[in-house]
Amino acid sequence: MLEAEGEDKQLLFKRSREITDHYIGNRVHLRGLIEYSNVCIKDCYYCGIRKSNKNQLRYTLSNEEVLECARYALEHQYGSIVIQAGERCDAGFTSGITELLKEIKKISGGKLGITLSLGEQSEEVYREWFKAGGHRYLLRIESSIQALYNRIHPGNDRHSFEKRVNALHNIRKSGFQLGTGVMIGLPGQTTEDLASDLLFLRELDVDMVGMGPYVEHRDTPLYAEKDLLISRQQRLDLAFKMIAALRIMMKDINIAAATALQALDPVGREKAIRIGANILMPNISPGMYRKSYKLYEDKPCVDERPADCNQCLDVRIGMTGSCIGYNEWGDSKHFTPKQEKVLTGI
Ligand code: SF4
Repeated sequence: MLEAEGEDKQLLFKRSREITDHYIGNRVHLRGLIEYSNVCIKDCYYCGIRKSNKNQLRYTLSNEEVLECARYALEHQYGSIVIQAGERCDAGFTSGITELLKEIKKISGGKLGITLSLGEQSEEVYREWFKAGGHRYLLRIESSIQALYNRIHPGNDRHSFEKRVNALHNIRKSGFQLGTGVMIGLPGQTTEDLASDLLFLRELDVDMVGMGPYVEHRDTPLYAEKDLLISRQQRLDLAFKMIAALRIMMKDINIAAATALQALDPVGREKAIRIGANILMPNISPGMYRKSYKLYEDKPCVDERPADCNQCLDVRIGMTGSCIGYNEWGDSKHFTPKQEKVLTGI
């Protein structure tokens, strides 16, 4: 499927769309993205907000700013938000998130679904955040091939592949709907590597996936390998095939149309929705901070205010033949059986 071209590629996309219509329906669900902080203790070689990037101004939103974003999501009937940040494990940070979660639940009367994307934490912290109101967690593996993972991360304990996989298991054990994802088109990455990534996602039996093309950032060590990259168009094309293939393999999971798709093609996210993605994460972070949360270059919408974004959503989704499921959580349909297993202790 990942090597399909011409007529075969069209057949692949047609099949993935049919499966999406049958198992998911034509509703796309929103997750208002709040980029809470770009402070990070890690140094991933591909990331613009890595600890060692001294060109990056750092910020952390105040609780009031986060609550303002949550109110915005509520007023605009988003159904859910995502709180995303660089990784920090200190007690001040983790307990601060717990308080924020409780506050958001309170001001929304429990109406807003909450996805967290806050990196590797202890099982205890995951449990605390789940109890406080988060119910989905996204932690990208980035590559399921250990050798490739090691190539794009520093070789120290803080960036260990085993720890990352272990964290994924702990997220699930803590009760969350589990999400992960990979980068597509990394220097030196092969089609076989990507096929293995798809099998890894199926093996892990994930509930949600967010994956997109690798987009280079000049202030990172991996930028030195840019001459090894396939073209941006090829990365985009591979990303679409990955989404379509995953939809065929895992019919009822949630698949996000990643923002990185839009960085390479103005309508990249819409094209992904047409062939299998069903989740969109509009950025609702305060506009003044958006330029400081650049994981990669050419990140879209950094100059916009949340209201600008909202105006174009209906039009954009309408283009895909789908519509927005306002005021709905849009949880992963794949999750239900496992949740029952946990509840009944089976
Ligand atoms: S990818 Fe995540 S953990 Fe790694 S440096 Fe960037 S923000 Fe930090």
